Amino acid sequence: MNKVAVAKGDGIGPEIMEAVLKIFNAANVPLEYEYVDMGKWVFDKGYSNGMTPAAQQTIESLGILFKGPMETPKGKGVKSVNVTARKTWNTYANKRVFQTLHGVDTVFSKAGIPIDITVVRENIEDTYGGIEHMLTHDVALSRRFITQPGSMQVIKYAFEMAKKKGTRRITCGHKANIMKLTDGLFLQTFYDVAKDYPELKADDIIVDDLCMKLVTRPDQFDVVVLTNLQGDIVSDLCAGLVGGLGFAPSANIGDHISIFEAVHGTAPDIMGKNIANPTALLLSGLALLRHIGLMESAATIENALLYTLEQGVHTGDFGDKAVQSLNTTEFSEAIIANFGKVPENNPKPMLENQPITPTVFKLDKNPMLENSENINETIIGVDMFIESNEQPMVIAEKCLQHTFGLFKLVTISNRGTQVWPTGSMYTNLVNTYACRFESVGEVSVTQTDIIELYRHLAQDFKICSTELLNVWDGKKAYSLAAGQ
Ligand code: NAD
Repeated sequence: MNKVAVAKGDGIGPEIMEAVLKIFNAANVPLEYEYVDMGKWVFDKGYSNGMTPAAQQTIESLGILFKGPMETPKGKGVKSVNVTARKTWNTYANKRVFQTLHGVDTVFSKAGIPIDITVVRENIEDTYGGIEHMLTHDVALSRRFITQPGSMQVIKYAFEMAKKKGTRRITCGHKANIMKLTDGLFLQTFYDVAKDYPELKADDIIVDDLCMKLVTRPDQFDVVVLTNLQGDIVSDLCAGLVGGLGFAPSANIGDHISIFEAVHGTAPDIMGKNIANPTALLLSGLALLRHIGLMESAATIENALLYTLEQGVHTGDFGDKAVQSLNTTEFSEAIIANFGKVPENNPKPMLENQPITPTVFKLDKNPMLENSENINETIIGVDMFIESNEQPMVIAEKCLQHTFGLFKLVTISNRGTQVWPTGSMYTNLVNTYACRFESVGEVSVTQTDIIELYRHLAQDFKICSTELLNVWDGKKAYSLAAGQ
């Protein structure tokens, strides 16, 4: 029998996990559960990543984790165990399905507008790297990594999933008009992958326009793929379209290990009361069953759930207030009592179980993801981020004293807006400037040349950060300042 790791989680986690596993057991789902120690209480025991070494070992050997929501202790400098788990095991694709559920009233269900949107969110990179530094007391910097191989993994997954699902349309949401290199790379990768799927209509949309269209015409979208932060926001928006977080499941898919959990958190305001809605965790569990090929059990349980919702049965967080709500246990028992019933709307077909291909095998080194394009690379300069509260002209004069010979000062910007050699007195300043030095004639320079420049500038300024200016196949691999 298949075995999966189960972490009950914090807050309402144990209550809703118990309800879901009760439903699984009643349906004779052929699964065994190995409970692992993860969550706030594990942090409190002194494990700084929120899980015990034994839990990590079990999850890495079983390959599937079914988890309840977990709390991140506040103000202790520890990182979220939820994010750590997704990143450590490279679950690069976060798939969240949002479908109209009959019995869960929304403005769209009342208007007869059907919703069936799958959001695929990149799950490892972006600002979720959490790589942040205070450059000065006034200025914080977050590094936003978007990589070609990382984008490729999640976008390929999205296209493959869309093809299997028989989707009409796959859409890339982005902000490449502003973040030309990071979101531009994600978008380019999307269209590179799209060439291998001519049968799918692939298009893109700027993320703000996407939000507006999702709340006006959600039925126009099928599969939407986004970078991490934008995907997080857009998927909560989609949860709102179908009735809220109580109905939002989530699957974190990796090549070896995958994690299934609800989108919502630990709901500390209702914990211990046995009133939480287990639907989101149940839907996440059904995604788990389908992921490992248990199609029949998934369809039986989902049909019973949909039938139950159609009958107006509900927990306290949704449904008709005139109809008495059920508690978590009663709600799960109502679903069990409806096994074998088929809903009037969107009944799930009884697909055959599929053989499972094991995804976990022992790795002897960390996989290196690399795009092996052969390109001509040169460094032609450097951006020096300096701390100063002086005016741009004064900074330029000091910089120019150090730029004899190889380098010339090209531009000085403040929060991305050029303030030297030209600019406006109306541009507000903060105490971090980016001073861009390029080589005279844009010839190739070495890192030693840059260290020499650094040594000189450090006599006048505190240098908070540096970035090399790369040119690849004659193309600048860096952005220009606004107004440059
Ligand atoms: P939350 O999702 O826990 O709660 C938001 C609101 O939704 C609350 O009013 C809550 O009662 C309600 N709610 C959530 N799930 C519900 C359910 N199943 N049934 C009925 N009502 C439900 O968000 P929060 O309050 O911002 O976060 C609480 C904690 O959860 C924080 O520590 C946060 O870090 C953590 N969190 C964990 C995860 C995860 O484990 N993946 C995700 C989000 C938040």
